[in-house]
Amino acid sequence: MNNADTKKIKVLAYLRKSTEDNKEGEARRQKNSIEYQREVVKEIAERNNLEIVRYFEDSKTGYKAFQREGFDKMLEFFREQKHEGVVKGIVCSEHNRLARNFGDGGFLLWYLQDGLINTIYTYDKIFTNSASDQMMLAINFAMSKHSSDETSWRTKRTWSHRAHTEGQPPNQHLAGYKYTGEKGKRFWTVDKKNAPIVKEMFERFATGEYTVSEIFDYAVSEGLTSPKSKKTYDSEKSIRGLLKKKEYTGIFMYEGEEIKGKYPPLISSELFYKVQEVLSGTAHPKTQGKNEYAYTGLVKCGVCGGNMSGTIRKGITYYRCLHRYEPCKSNKGQRPSYLRETLIDEEITELLLKIQVSDKQFNKLIPYVSDFFEDEKSKYRYEIIQLKGKLTEAQRNLDFYNKELFTIKRVPEKERDKDWLMDKEGLEGLRENAHQEKEMYERQISKAENLKDTVPTLMFNFLKGIKIVGSRFKTASPSNKRQIVDTLCANFKWNGKELSWEWKKPYHLLTNSNEKRRWLRDQDSNLEPNG
Ligand SMILES: [Zn+2]
Repeated sequence: MNNADTKKIKVLAYLRKSTEDNKEGEARRQKNSIEYQREVVKEIAERNNLEIVRYFEDSKTGYKAFQREGFDKMLEFFREQKHEGVVKGIVCSEHNRLARNFGDGGFLLWYLQDGLINTIYTYDKIFTNSASDQMMLAINFAMSKHSSDETSWRTKRTWSHRAHTEGQPPNQHLAGYKYTGEKGKRFWTVDKKNAPIVKEMFERFATGEYTVSEIFDYAVSEGLTSPKSKKTYDSEKSIRGLLKKKEYTGIFMYEGEEIKGKYPPLISSELFYKVQEVLSGTAHPKTQGKNEYAYTGLVKCGVCGGNMSGTIRKGITYYRCLHRYEPCKSNKGQRPSYLRETLIDEEITELLLKIQVSDKQFNKLIPYVSDFFEDEKSKYRYEIIQLKGKLTEAQRNLDFYNKELFTIKRVPEKERDKDWLMDKEGLEGLRENAHQEKEMYERQISKAENLKDTVPTLMFNFLKGIKIVGSRFKTASPSNKRQIVDTLCANFKWNGKELSWEWKKPYHLLTNSNEKRRWLRDQDSNLEPNG
């Protein structure tokens, strides 16, 4: 390596082949090829003294936000190297390769503003993080979105295009349906044994009163079987996966298109999006529903390492091991007894009351806490940008279906045949789905905005009034308790005799100790492990 090389500016290259471009004639197709883009990108790098450290590629469509793996990985690269990273630029043949929807565009602009990216190099323009360049880039993104709207977007999304799939999801096995018929002509029918269980899973989960664990327990106890293995499900993850299957609403995705299927739906779009909302909430413990058991998922079984889950026996809340893993799974004798919730409450209250925060400690904590919450806040900011992109997409779909319905309704009465009716019903289903999806994103955005604003206030108040928190802790709602415990403590384990845990950083400063705390179990908790 010579001196000139070391002085080069390190960048990432992004190449994207879009399926739309292939339909737009020879010239466009050639420009679209990855090889061609690679040549162009090399030329830009040469011209600007850039060193390409890595290439990221996508060959899927860029219309749907957040479906581009290469693009996402590239952003992840910037996120992970943080502000200290040496790679600060992107090189790409044209800016519309980079972002073809508002979600992607929003991210890039955000990264530019934030300083994670400094410069974007394209064949005819270089965008820096100056305000005017950011504005130019935003306008360019909006323009390229606009031009793709005008061309392939419309032609691709015609109703007739969908008809050829016969309204059956291609080669799919999904619990609740049977996939029957000859090869190539298979269709979905309702599986009378499993369908009611699936329906009930959605209905229960939508209430927000159940965890995925509890839905998993329900599915297993009702004997829900996988259509492939014919066995009951053995992981929470697969049950979570089922709760995300849009196919249950009668709508499925085919080659990136939404299609209204010709098979009976098991649930409504409304119910589906409620479930998605609850699911996304479980990613943030702070947003969990009121009726959650306060410590579900926070306390682990000390014997098998599995999660302990809340349950009520004779009016008293306990946590129990779910016996999913060895040795608890097959060794009844080794299972720990139930852990009484009041035991955790009392000990935490006592602990909080004992805490003395000196001015010195408080001042030490402040930067930690504000860092921690800056992090939290930017997570919410990213999430809001992402949700806004998705909202735009849902709104776009809704507008499209409305327009199509308007057109189809103008067909004169006497020309309306069976196909017309089918198209109309299909479009109405898709419109309802887009409507529900849009409403869900709106709710999620306002929730995230709210949380973003309240999180730091909550914590500063907490630090200032830590003693008050202690005395109020016992009467706090389950979700508040959970929030406090989840913020302060980690690694709760119950082995049937003692409860152990540790302070989360930086809160160990509160007691000047890193030590694990242990408490003896209460003597009157004599519930049988299998009770
Ligand atoms: Zn266990």
